[in-house]
Amino acid sequence: MTKMAVLVAPLLFIGCPKDPPPPRPRASVSTSSRPVPTSPPIVAAFNGERAMDHVKKQIDFGPRPPESQQLAKTRSYITNELKSYGLTVSLDEFTATTPQGEKKMANIVAEIPGETKTLILITSHYDTKFYKDMNFVGANDPAASVGTLLEIGRVLGSRKEKPKVTYRLVFFDGEEAFCDGWSDCGDQQNPDNTYGSRHYVSQLRARNELENARALILLDMMGYKNLELGRDTTSTKWLQDIIWQTGRELGYNKVFVDREEGVGGDDHEPFLAAGVDSVDVIQLTSYPYWHRADDTIDKVSAQSMKIVGETVLASLPKITEHVTKK
Ligand SMILES: [Zn+2]
Repeated sequence: MTKMAVLVAPLLFIGCPKDPPPPRPRASVSTSSRPVPTSPPIVAAFNGERAMDHVKKQIDFGPRPPESQQLAKTRSYITNELKSYGLTVSLDEFTATTPQGEKKMANIVAEIPGETKTLILITSHYDTKFYKDMNFVGANDPAASVGTLLEIGRVLGSRKEKPKVTYRLVFFDGEEAFCDGWSDCGDQQNPDNTYGSRHYVSQLRARNELENARALILLDMMGYKNLELGRDTTSTKWLQDIIWQTGRELGYNKVFVDREEGVGGDDHEPFLAAGVDSVDVIQLTSYPYWHRADDTIDKVSAQSMKIVGETVLASLPKITEHVTKK
């Protein structure tokens, strides 16, 4: 390494023009005459293997329902990873009343500050569904979306320039119902699901940030090795269109398909109800291992997480354009 440096240094000096060129993104080799993109350069690229490693780590902790030691370990892991990417991390802690009594929960929030307070939220839940008699490790639900969101955080954190808008990554606690079915317990006033996302909406409202939140992307069960993402019918059309179109432009036509996906409620729902445009990126009806003991690591792939991660990252400039135009 030292020898190389000695050899290279004089060459660089000789070749140095009078006016040094502006810094360019490391990976950019462009011969086209297209205009320079206005979005900041991506220094790091989304790495599916790194996302896969995050999946492994979560599964190693075991089942991770709210208030468990395993979820506390997962929370520390996520928090430490985010901090290592240079992101500002905070916990949104609260107590939820559930069919199993009072449960302490915490959303994890990481911010990439932008030039404005306008917010784009990129989110996933990180709890696994509670089962009394099943060793449920949730490789796709939600380890894959957590791994993907962490890797998105690493890429965004590596960018040198401030984005136009502020990005916030939110990892929700308590998405899953404590009772077997999504709506077996609870009622419209006190549903037995989406504890973390409902609490986070109330926090945004309390801090007068709700009107700044202009778009929410929810990742949930998007790591299946046979990935095929249909369109959730409750999601906001323009936002879903941007992501689906971007995915297809990247060559993932077989992943971003037009069939309707019947989700019927998820963490994006409280945001939609609060007037925040939201999209759920989810493969529910065609994932055979949903809420089963064999939702295991062999069902998810690094490539599927990379497809979604790359597509979300490539969609952000277009979403920014949409929410900042007046
Ligand atoms: Zn689930």
